Amino acid sequence: MQIKKLPQEFITARPILQTIEGAGYEAYFVGGSVRDTILKDHIHDVDIATSAFPSEVKDLFKKTIDTGIKHGTVMVLDHQQKYEVTTFRTESGYQDFRRPDKVTFVRSLEEDLKRRDFTVNALALKEDGTVVDLFSGLQDLQNHILKAVGIPEERFHEDALRMMRAVRFASKLDFVIEEKTEAAIKHNAPLLKKIAVERILVEFEKMMMGQATTKGVKYFLETGLYAYCPQFEGKLKPLSQLLNLNPKFRLTTETQVWLLICHTLELSREQSRSFLRAWKTSNELIAEVESGIQLLNAISKNSVSEKLLFRTGKKVLQSVINVLLAMNSKIDTSTLLARYNELPIKSTHELNVNGHDLLTANITTPGPQMGRIISYLLDGVLTGQFKNNQSELLLKAKKYTSSNLES
Ligand code: ATP
Ligand code: MG
Repeated sequence: MQIKKLPQEFITARPILQTIEGAGYEAYFVGGSVRDTILKDHIHDVDIATSAFPSEVKDLFKKTIDTGIKHGTVMVLDHQQKYEVTTFRTESGYQDFRRPDKVTFVRSLEEDLKRRDFTVNALALKEDGTVVDLFSGLQDLQNHILKAVGIPEERFHEDALRMMRAVRFASKLDFVIEEKTEAAIKHNAPLLKKIAVERILVEFEKMMMGQATTKGVKYFLETGLYAYCPQFEGKLKPLSQLLNLNPKFRLTTETQVWLLICHTLELSREQSRSFLRAWKTSNELIAEVESGIQLLNAISKNSVSEKLLFRTGKKVLQSVINVLLAMNSKIDTSTLLARYNELPIKSTHELNVNGHDLLTANITTPGPQMGRIISYLLDGVLTGQFKNNQSELLLKAKKYTSSNLES
């Protein structure tokens, strides 16, 4: 197969391949960018594989960085672009089900493609557009099939993360998993326990954000992989609700993913926090999910106040709305958004009185009382009782402090 019109990313990177080839070595585009080009999908990072050894690659270019030299990767800097150029390699050992004990640099493209996970990820592309297809990846791409390169049992034994990659690609590409590959995942699912949570997290999130989430989730549940993920054991029933997600709706952020999961598992705010700690998500994400859970709880109790909408903020509100839409919820999300948009102020900075103003007007001194006054003014403005006007707010603050002193 020959690709006539290469995407711009490849055209820009072409001189790198030509330089390597000009020195007598082989060089190809490999991995996801080749697969996605043939699928006519948008491509992101362009990976290059070569028969040149790392030191040989470094000799050919003015600017390089040793990003992963032990694994054969040299970063080539060219016209403000960065390219990862990786020497063809074989891997062996894998005694811990996750990492090869030994990486050997080789001169053969075939050996390099053989170690790749799925046939559709084992295609190579020459700079002139010729596709090298040694494992029938093109046919699988055409038939939308995800199939392990070689013997699936062995491949998942070598690296158990590949099983999570299978379900994430099923979702990302909307592909079915070939029978033997799927059977091997079922059989080896417990090996997932050997994999670092951080790496499972990445694949799980990508699965949830794919174009065919329910397909990925179906495999994730049916193969039993879920049971070897943090806190998912015994949760088949609630997790099965994810199969009813709106197929037309796509989750677009990690926060949406975890908000949906915590909501589906009916976790409280506190439970969500410890659940997400087990998954090792960032603290920023945990804070957003907690805030989202609080809003979802208020929605289900029909007790959403303007103050809660204000505290939730636009970003988390948008996540909550997307999660509700993904769940085909009957909640009127446009009213929620309209109520938020109508809030007189969207952040505390917009309040026309701050701590400094309260001090200058001799209303209070620094300390907890100041916080209480600000919160009182904020409440008044958000509920429409007070105008967001400095003199009015100072007056309200004065009254508030004197009545509080009296009581
Ligand atoms: P994406 O579009 O998500 O980046 P990708 O196919 O480029 O998809 P990467 O994780 O970036 O996926 O990996 C690049 C390539 O490296 C893959 O296409 C595959 O050939 C190979 N690869 C990555 N991880 C593994 C693995 N665990 N086992 C075998 N091959 C792998
Ligand atoms: Mg990639």
